[in-house]
Amino acid sequence: MKVLKFGGTSVGSSQNIKKIIEIISSNHNETQVVVVSAFAKVTNLLLESAQLASIKKSAYISVIEGIKSIHFNIILELFSGEEKEELDSYVNQKLKDLSDVLHGVSLIRELSAKSEATIVSYGEQLSSYIINKALLANGISSVRVDTRTLIKTNNNYTSATVNFEVSNQNIQNYFKANKTQVSVLPGFIATGESGETTVLGRGGSDYTAAIFAAALEVEILEIWTDVSGMYTANPKLVKQATPIEQISYEEAMELSHFGAKVIYPPTIHPVLRKEIPIHIKNTLKPDDKGTLITKHTSESDTKPVKGISHIDHVTLITLEGSGMVGIPGFSKRLFETLASEKTNVKLITQASSEHSICIGIDDSNASKAKIAIDSAFEFEILKNRIKPLIIENNLSIIAIVGDQMKSHQGISGRMFGTLGKNNVNIRAIAQGASEKNISAVIAAKDVKKALNTLHETFFKDNNKQLNLYITGVGNVGSKLIEQIQQQQQYLQDNFKIKLRVIGLSNSKKMIFNEDGIKFSSWQEQLNSGHEASINGFLDQVKFLNLRNSIFVDITANAIVADIYPEYLSNSTAVVACNKIACSSTYNKYRKLKELSLEYNAPLLFETNVGAGLPIIATLNNLIASGDQIQSIQAVLSGSLNFIFNNFKENTNFYDIVKQAQDEGYTEPDPRIDLSGVDVARKILILARESGVKIDLEDIENDSFLTENNHKANSVDDFYDSLNVDAEHFNQLLESANKNNCQLKYVAEFVNGKAKVGLKEIPEGHPFYNLEGKDNIVMFYTKRYPEQPMIIKGAGAGADVTASGIFADIIKIANK
Ligand code: ADP
Ligand code: ASP
Ligand code: MG
Repeated sequence: MKVLKFGGTSVGSSQNIKKIIEIISSNHNETQVVVVSAFAKVTNLLLESAQLASIKKSAYISVIEGIKSIHFNIILELFSGEEKEELDSYVNQKLKDLSDVLHGVSLIRELSAKSEATIVSYGEQLSSYIINKALLANGISSVRVDTRTLIKTNNNYTSATVNFEVSNQNIQNYFKANKTQVSVLPGFIATGESGETTVLGRGGSDYTAAIFAAALEVEILEIWTDVSGMYTANPKLVKQATPIEQISYEEAMELSHFGAKVIYPPTIHPVLRKEIPIHIKNTLKPDDKGTLITKHTSESDTKPVKGISHIDHVTLITLEGSGMVGIPGFSKRLFETLASEKTNVKLITQASSEHSICIGIDDSNASKAKIAIDSAFEFEILKNRIKPLIIENNLSIIAIVGDQMKSHQGISGRMFGTLGKNNVNIRAIAQGASEKNISAVIAAKDVKKALNTLHETFFKDNNKQLNLYITGVGNVGSKLIEQIQQQQQYLQDNFKIKLRVIGLSNSKKMIFNEDGIKFSSWQEQLNSGHEASINGFLDQVKFLNLRNSIFVDITANAIVADIYPEYLSNSTAVVACNKIACSSTYNKYRKLKELSLEYNAPLLFETNVGAGLPIIATLNNLIASGDQIQSIQAVLSGSLNFIFNNFKENTNFYDIVKQAQDEGYTEPDPRIDLSGVDVARKILILARESGVKIDLEDIENDSFLTENNHKANSVDDFYDSLNVDAEHFNQLLESANKNNCQLKYVAEFVNGKAKVGLKEIPEGHPFYNLEGKDNIVMFYTKRYPEQPMIIKGAGAGADVTASGIFADIIKIANK
C-alpha cells in the first residue's frame, strides 16, 4: 500500500491529469491512497474572491466565473456525453453553494476564519471529485472519500491542528472496512470540533498525505509535484540547482522550514516517527529519479551542505537597552507577547552581552508585534531602560542546511566570506546548536545573488559565473570580446568558469542584458542601445546586483577612472587597462587599494605596464614572497621603441613619428609618448607597486625634445616643430652611432627614485637588441642581485593587451 499526493500544478490541466492516470495505472494492483490538491491557481482565486466579498466588491463574482471556467475546461477535455453533463452540473451546484457563502460574507462585510476555511475548501472538493471520475472513466477501480469524515482538528479554522488520536483511528477503521484499490481524497481539508470545515494551512495537502501514510503505516509516501525533487536551491531562482537524490528527514525539514516550498514543513513529522520514506517525484517527468527522504542518507554522502533555501517577507524586530542586562524574564515576556499575538518566530539571535535581542518574523505580523511589545514594555521604555521596538523590513532569511556541517570546520566562514565578497550585507545570523542549519538575515533585493553565489561556493561541480561590464570597445575592447567568445566554451569545460558580458558601453551608447549579451551581433545591438552615461552604467551594475560582477575599463578616460571607488565599494571588481587611476595622485591610488581590500573587490591593472606581459603580477609575487626591489631598469614604451628602432641614417625623425602614428603605435596625441609622460606613468605604477610612496612630479623626466617641440600648442604644430628641429634629432642619432650605441627610451627606479629619458645603450646590454615595439623590464632584487629577473616581449598591440585584460579576469575567477 502506498500514499500518493498530487499537487496543484500536477492537476493543473487535462494533460497533467492524464499523466496522473498513467502513474496510478502503472502501480497495477497495488492499493493506493491518492491525495489531491485543488487545481492550479484555484486556491489563490478562492482566497481572492473571499477578500473581495468581504469588502463588498462584486468583482468576486467574476473571480468565481474564472474558477468555473478552469473546471469546465478540464472537464471538456477529459469527458463527453452524460459524464460531462453530470460533472458540469456538479461544478455548477458546488459553485452556487460557494456563491451563497460569499454573498453572506459580502452582506456582513466580514470574513471570519471559519468562512475563509469553508470558502477555500471548495478547491479540493471539486478537484478530488473530477479526478475520481477520470480514474473511473479509465477503468480504474476508484472511490472518492471526503477527508473531512476522517481527519479531525481543533477549531483553528485556517491553520488547524490535527487530533491524531481520533484521526488515526478514523483512517484505520475506514481502510479496514473498505478495500477499494484506489481511494481519492481531497487534501488540505478537515473537520473541526464543532463539525465545520477547517483547513491545514497553505500547502497543507502534503500534510494530509503524510497523516494517511503514517496512520496506515504504508511503505512509501510519494509527493508528485512540478519539479524533479527537492533541489539544492529553488530551481526558479538558481538555474544551476540540481535535484538532491537522497536527504534525511532533518535536512528536508530544515530546508522546508526555511522556504523550500516543494514540501510543506509539518509533512515530515507524522512519517518520521514511523520511518516511512518520502519520495518527491515529478508528475511531468515520472522517469526522473526525484528525491528520497529517509532517516539517514547513505554513508558515502559526506557533503556538508545539502541545500540552500530562503524565506521572503521577513521583518526583523530588535529590543535593546541596558535595562535588559542580567535581568531574567525579559525574553519570557517578549516571547509571551509574541505568542499571544499569534506571531510565529522564524529566527532569534541574542548578543552575549544580553544588551539586545533580535527576532525575525513575517512582515504581516510586524505592526501588531510593534504595538503589543511597546505596550508590554511601556514601563521600561518610559524609564529609558529599553528603547521602543526597532523594526526593519524588506528582509529575507537565507539558510544553508546539512546534517554533516557539524563535522566540517569553516562552513560559516565560507558562507559569510562568499556573501561579503558579493557585497551582501548581513543583518543577523543564527546557527542552531545542532549545526544543521546556518541562517542569515539579508536585504530582500540581495536574495537571488546570495542564493546563486552560495550555490557556486558549496556545490563545486557547478560553474562559477562571472558577470562582466565592459566600457570602451575600440580596438582592444573588440579584441577582448572576440577572445571571450572564442574561449567561453573552453573555460566552461575545463575550469567551470562561465563568462558572460552583461553590459557594454562606448562613449556614445550602452546596452545591458541580464542573461548575457549575444556576441554574434554585439556591435549592432550597441549601436541601437541607450545613450551612454558613466553614472548610468554604474547605476545599472548596482541595480542588476549580480554576483561576481567585474567592471572592465578599456578607455583612457579620466572620468571613468574617477568612478572606480564607487565600483569597489559596491564590491564590484575592477579590471583596468586605463592607467589614469593608478598613476594619478598617490592618495587616490592608496584609496583604491584600501577600498579593494575593504570590500574584497579585486583591482587589477596588469595591462597598465607592458600590455599583456606579466610585469605587475611578477612584481607583486616578488614582494608578497618577501623579496625587496633594489632597482628596476626598463624600456616600457612600445611607441618610442618603434620610433628609435626605425630612426636610421638618411631618415627623417618627423617621418618616423608619423609612420608610428599611422600604424597605431602611438597615442592619438603623439606628444604623450614623445614627452615621456606615458613611460613616467608606467614606472610610477611599478614604483608604487614596489611599495614606494611616489607621485608623478617626483619622477625626473630628462626630455629629448626641443623647446620648440614643447611649446607646440597642437598636434600639427608639434609635427611642424619636429620638422624644423630635424637637426637636433639627427645629432642624437649621430652621437649614438659614433659611440656604437642604440637609442632607447629608458625608465629607471633606483633607491626609491625614478627617472625616464633617452639613453645611448652600448652593445651587449640587454636593451641593445630590443626590437620593434617590444618592452623589457629588469628587476634587480635582494634575491636577484646580479642577474636580474627579466621580462621581455611585445609591449603594445590590441591582441596582447586584450589577452592581458582577459588574464586579469580569469585571475578574479580563480580567487
Ligand atoms: P505543489 O503544487 O505540487 O504542491 P508547490 O508549488 O507547493 O507544488 O512546490 C513546488 C515548487 O517549490 C517548485 O515549483 C519550486 O518553485 C519550489 N521550490 C522552492 N524551493 C525548492 C527546492 N529547494 N527544491 C524544489 N522546489 C523548490
Ligand atoms: N490547495 C492548497 C494550497 O494551495 C493546499 C495545497 O495545495 O497543498 O495551499
Ligand atoms: Mg505544495
